[in-house]
Amino acid sequence: MRKKIVAGNWKMNGTLEESTTLFDSINSNSDKFSDNVEVMVSPSFLYLESFINKGSKSVVVAAQNCANNLSGAFTGEISVGMLKSIGVSHVIVGHSERRLIYGESIEDISQKVALVLQSDMTPIFCIGEELEDRKSGNHFDVIEKQMQSVLDLSEKQFESIIVAYEPVWAIGTGETASPEQAQEMHEFIREQLRKKYGVLAENTRILYGGSVKPSNANQIFSKPDVDGGLVGGAALNTDDFLAIIEAAG
Ligand code: PEP
Repeated sequence: MRKKIVAGNWKMNGTLEESTTLFDSINSNSDKFSDNVEVMVSPSFLYLESFINKGSKSVVVAAQNCANNLSGAFTGEISVGMLKSIGVSHVIVGHSERRLIYGESIEDISQKVALVLQSDMTPIFCIGEELEDRKSGNHFDVIEKQMQSVLDLSEKQFESIIVAYEPVWAIGTGETASPEQAQEMHEFIREQLRKKYGVLAENTRILYGGSVKPSNANQIFSKPDVDGGLVGGAALNTDDFLAIIEAAG
């Protein structure tokens, strides 16, 4: 059975004090987490080390991004080696905000996935179609194309990846994919992975992201190919995030 994941993407939110309060309040409720759920939070790069050093056994600390080069003259970038050296284990790669606001290409994202894996960290690989793609019925083609970034891995590398399906039209908009829409796409994604990696695809966690909140988490997470959620806005509120974790358990 695939263990569910609830991961909070805090994006560019929170001062050190606010983020520490949020982290500590989630962590202090970890005795209520079900054994069937893994919990992650992804704060600003600036706070990763201090949260990792808290040594929580229940809350994994993930980075929101990494550079697509190993080192060198890339002002403002953070390399996988830097992340690894402070104890980061998971890195979000290819979030739609990176693709759309910062122009990251499928090729950039493939490089990042490869670098994260080479550093023995786990990529949380995000894919998702835009509203026009869905309206024109093109959404499966878009997802298939984005998935190229993870279809050239060794079996060992593939085993560690986590996929997050995040329809762009549902991110931060309050609009959520219906549980049926989510299941349909997750099934499609798993089928693409199965074609390449066979039975290994049965173990891949595919998270849903896009306005997950306490009121819809249960229904979405109950779908057979939905293995938890990548949560933005609702992850910034302790009660909401804890309720979503509970829904996954
Ligand atoms: C996200 O940014 O990954 C996300 C899913 O955001 P929200 O939950 O706010 O839609």
